[in-house]
Amino acid sequence: MPKAKETVLEIDLSALTHNFNYLKSKLQPQTKFLAVVKAFAYGSDAVEIAKHLQKLNVDYFAVAYVNEGVALRDAGITAPILVLHPQSISFKTLIDRCLEPSIYSTHVLDEFIKITKAQSQKDYPVHIKFNTGLNRLGFKVNDIDSIVSKLDNTSSIKVKSLFSHLVASEDTNELEFSNNQIEKFKTIAATFEEKSGIKPWLHMCNTSGIINYPEAHFDMVRSGIGLYGFGNSIEEDNKLKPIASLKSVISQIHTIEKDETVGYNRAYTAKGIEKTATIPIGHADGISRIYGQEKGFVTINSEKAPIIGNVCMDMIMVNITNIDCKEGDEVIIFDNKYKANTLAEAANTISYEIMTSISQRVKRVFIP
Ligand SMILES: *Cc1c(COP(=O)(O)O)cnc(C)c1O
Repeated sequence: MPKAKETVLEIDLSALTHNFNYLKSKLQPQTKFLAVVKAFAYGSDAVEIAKHLQKLNVDYFAVAYVNEGVALRDAGITAPILVLHPQSISFKTLIDRCLEPSIYSTHVLDEFIKITKAQSQKDYPVHIKFNTGLNRLGFKVNDIDSIVSKLDNTSSIKVKSLFSHLVASEDTNELEFSNNQIEKFKTIAATFEEKSGIKPWLHMCNTSGIINYPEAHFDMVRSGIGLYGFGNSIEEDNKLKPIASLKSVISQIHTIEKDETVGYNRAYTAKGIEKTATIPIGHADGISRIYGQEKGFVTINSEKAPIIGNVCMDMIMVNITNIDCKEGDEVIIFDNKYKANTLAEAANTISYEIMTSISQRVKRVFIP
């Protein structure tokens, strides 16, 4: 790659292929793979990522909201798309674009049956979400009777899968809780099958679930962060390849005297004669103010340069006092060597957040 001369997010599609194949190697051959491409594929680019994964014969996609699914359909994605958190106001669009809803509450079930009946739909595929401990979205086991009786009264929808979500699949201290969720989900599935007489697919594992709970892969797994190169543990991180590199450039270098201050509200004071570099990336690009005050850093010519003072909307200033560099030099915010999770953890957050925060203003560049 030529050195960055502006702020760019480079997306390495061969790393995506590597991660997909690595995660698939953890599955039984018949287990289906759902790729989670919500939030612009975790900030990379949902359309390009989905096109690439579709070429690799991924079985399913998931997004959070209907408009994300619409963007994929507009781009020619034909694989089935599960919408994890639809609202009833967008059901008409969802049906028009052949998206498949997660049905997570009685209200949503009633509303979806109403609209599919009114449209004389037959066997419209839906996915029923059960809450096994996250207490975020989903039915409980004692809702099954009511769900089944509603299903018995309509032919407008058809349950394609039952699913649930693990609370702490990456946390080995929560093994007991996770196993308990898995057992609860098995009971739910058995009860549902018995009462409804149908046998939908089952799925429960996200990326860390794929790695830590092979006995809970069921019929399909749902992976997001792993595809983008993070495995929530040092061991797995070493096997995956981050697909996104955020790079920029030094716009200007200043030499400042002792006690001069840098940036808004004079949040940084020089301890002696110091050199600073101004970089064209700020909180509007996704570098949150939590990375200011020397919590976050960038890498210039392989040296760590802390972000000093407050992060501005369009810029950060970094300390380069001991770094040999010049205006126009490349700046790495994160890449496959200086990883996004290291930067995120330095500011007490997680790779998911920094990745999904990279705003649409940052140009995406795809490397085949
Ligand atoms: C986001 C999400 C996933 C993907 O989780 P990763 O940890 O990124 O693999 C899977 N399932 C559901 C329900 C989600 O919301």
